[in-house]
Amino acid sequence: MVANIPSFSQTLEQHGLVIKRKQTQILQINMGLLCNQACKHCHLTAGPDKKEIMDIKTVNHVLEFQKKGCFKVVDITGGAPEMNPNLVYLIENISNISESVMLRSNLSALFEFKDDRLINVLKRNHVTIVSSFPSLNSSQTDSQRGKGVFDKSIQALIMLNQHGFGQKGTGLVLNLVSNPSGAYLPSSQTATEKRYRKILYKKWGIVFNHAFSFANMPLGRFESWLQRSDNYTHYMVELHKHFNPCTLDNLMCRNLISVSWDGFLFDCDFNLAADIYKGNKKKHISQLASCSFENDKIALDNHCYACAAGSGFT
Ligand code: SF4
Repeated sequence: MVANIPSFSQTLEQHGLVIKRKQTQILQINMGLLCNQACKHCHLTAGPDKKEIMDIKTVNHVLEFQKKGCFKVVDITGGAPEMNPNLVYLIENISNISESVMLRSNLSALFEFKDDRLINVLKRNHVTIVSSFPSLNSSQTDSQRGKGVFDKSIQALIMLNQHGFGQKGTGLVLNLVSNPSGAYLPSSQTATEKRYRKILYKKWGIVFNHAFSFANMPLGRFESWLQRSDNYTHYMVELHKHFNPCTLDNLMCRNLISVSWDGFLFDCDFNLAADIYKGNKKKHISQLASCSFENDKIALDNHCYACAAGSGFT
């Protein structure tokens, strides 16, 4: 517990609230910690030196799991999933058995690898691109994500637009996600989207579908920075101060299950980063007979405050 604030579970109790799983609609697949960037706010501490990536055997376990037909949406994340050589195989095979598939991209990986085969697979399967674009300020972006990342991200967005992503009438969706650069909460979703739409179009002719802004998770590299800069207590107090019970109905863990690169199950990608298994029980995807998790207990911890602060993290 952080000084002066109760644990997340105590806060729920104080409000007379209990949160359990609803029907799981989203299967989130973490393709690994390998990434071309080493962002300061990364909750997974992903980076170029990481060896953890999902192998073909685990990809096939995931496909078998999805064939049970339980999950409408597939959400592929990393690290940089583009760096996993099994990504195209996964998308080709999972798209046929899912209503929709989305890929979380840091943009610079899409730009650096310029993989036409991947772009064509994304287009053909109408994969929604959810791209990190933390700031409209190039020096702020580069200081958070690495030198040159802002320019590469802009080039990647232009390339995605040229392929039809984010353009009206194509059915190819391009969404952006931003996050604050320090120990404070993001500005409102509506204001962020309006600002991004105006400036990206005016300066580079870039269009997109939606922009979201989320709080940073007090985990991984961001937690280390909070501790080093003596901001940890202040940040947790801020998150607690902005606890919003209205966010609880839409928490990711209510209707999403996360699979790690080595095939274990978590209530969300943040719990994966914190090494907290689904419902606090370690289970491999290959061991599951059923994919019904309704009313299962969710493993909660104090980083959950970041999901329930302000307008939330859905
Ligand atoms: S961090 Fe906590 S509240 Fe947020 S999705 Fe995960 S388990 Fe749910």
